[in-house]
Amino acid sequence: MMEKLSTEQQKKFDDISANYELITRNIALAAEESGRKPSDITLLAATKTVEPVFINHAISLGLRAIGENKVQELLSKYDEYDLKNTELHFIGHLQTNKVRQLVGKVSMIQSVDSIKLAGEISRRSEQNGIVTDILLEVNIGREENKSGVLPEELDRLLEETSSLSGVKVRGLMSVPPICETKTEISKYFDEMYKIFVDISSKKLDNISMDFLSMGMSEDYKEAIQSGANMVRVGSALFGARIYR
Ligand SMILES: *Cc1c(COP(=O)(O)O)cnc(C)c1O
Repeated sequence: MMEKLSTEQQKKFDDISANYELITRNIALAAEESGRKPSDITLLAATKTVEPVFINHAISLGLRAIGENKVQELLSKYDEYDLKNTELHFIGHLQTNKVRQLVGKVSMIQSVDSIKLAGEISRRSEQNGIVTDILLEVNIGREENKSGVLPEELDRLLEETSSLSGVKVRGLMSVPPICETKTEISKYFDEMYKIFVDISSKKLDNISMDFLSMGMSEDYKEAIQSGANMVRVGSALFGARIYR
């Protein structure tokens, strides 16, 4: 028998349901405003600090992708995710010595920003007899101490990655700087979209630009208007994060 939910849990389920409905409606509107279909946009739920019971509730509402940003946390929750119809992505900073633990468990690694990291993902994937989908992360705000390859170094990383047989580049990801205004952040999103289109038009071997992953709780609408087709939303779906 299903365990009866506490009132507190039930309230949280209801909140997540209402948030999900609002977010999918906003996504649909932003997609239409930018000449696309709502189904062209993937909502990925950023699930850091969220307990699996709530993640699985969100999945039951129709979520197609979830993403964790810490290897340890992902592994500790891994057996509890309901992944029958939903993809698990890795979206955080990744050290090469942790790659082994992720490969084979995730559908996509969105945060690849060096040939060293791409090479290790490729090597571990080959050992498992699989090809791992990756996105290249771009540091579009050129911020110091931030993950992501600088825009001017992206061509070289693309070229180097294209020759690896254990990974397949499926697009780009970015986390722009914190901005005061929507106009300011949209400039970064527009810049990312331009890079995305430029690379697409080059038709490089073993590189496909299927996904442009950008936009979070505060700015996913703007990101979609600029051309994102994957948004990563956490707190707007699950509520404010509680770090334990
Ligand atoms: C946490 C996280 C998000 C979502 O952040 P929210 O502001 O809560 O929507 C998106 N992308 C990455 C890489 C994250 O770590």
